[in-house]
Amino acid sequence: MPTKLLPKNKKLIVANWKMNPENIFEARKIFSLLKKSNFNLKKVVAVICPPVIFLNELSTGYRGKKFIFGSQDVSLDNKKKYTGETGISILKTSGVRLVIVGHAERRALGETNQSVAVKIKNVISAGLTPVLCVGENRRDLDGTYLRFVEEQLHESLKKVSRKDIEKVILAYEPIWAIGKGRKAISTHELHQMTLFIKKILSAIYNKKVAMNVPILYGGSIDADNCEEIINKGEVSGLLVGRASLNPYIFSDILKKVSSV
Ligand code: PEP
Repeated sequence: MPTKLLPKNKKLIVANWKMNPENIFEARKIFSLLKKSNFNLKKVVAVICPPVIFLNELSTGYRGKKFIFGSQDVSLDNKKKYTGETGISILKTSGVRLVIVGHAERRALGETNQSVAVKIKNVISAGLTPVLCVGENRRDLDGTYLRFVEEQLHESLKKVSRKDIEKVILAYEPIWAIGKGRKAISTHELHQMTLFIKKILSAIYNKKVAMNVPILYGGSIDADNCEEIINKGEVSGLLVGRASLNPYIFSDILKKVSSV
């Protein structure tokens, strides 16, 4: 059974706003334009992950069905009260349904596979959906990057049982494709990578389970490449950074993906 948040016939599109926009007024403006977007709700689950300080205001009072809210990270521990961190209970009461864990930018700041594993477990225990990000820094000809992603998967899923893996969503985000001036992966390479990830999941769990874990792609997605990536890359959805901050472009992505 695929994760409850994402029925098998739908695609998941996650907007990662990172540290944008600069203020709540802009955030309100982006969200109010997004609410006008016209996409097929039967085909797409759309998630907005704003900076945590804007989350509550945007989600409270939103009764629409077009969007759900997510968080870009979560604190390692919910019991110990760490300065500057946001625990899973606060996220839950702020309307969050999905939590991105192990994003490349968090890993670059020191997040380890071990802390990712703890966070994934905590998110599942809270009844929310984790999106586990994996991806290599660069590609090489001898396949070292495959071992790197394999290790990320093994270590990050260490605390997830066979029963719970169906609650997890994966996001393959090659670091070399993320951010300004970069280019998205080719659909051929992406398809190969999704097969590789499924092979690893089959070895950790079993084939049936592996086939049901949704895999998203992230890295330089825009309105021009989203359909092809979804169609030919064989992914269950997209994690969108820069393009999600422009409500017109993001609406276009939602519309295009919902008509694939
Ligand atoms: C990201 O940071 O997760 C991302 C996919 O960014 P972008 O779409 O801007 O490459």
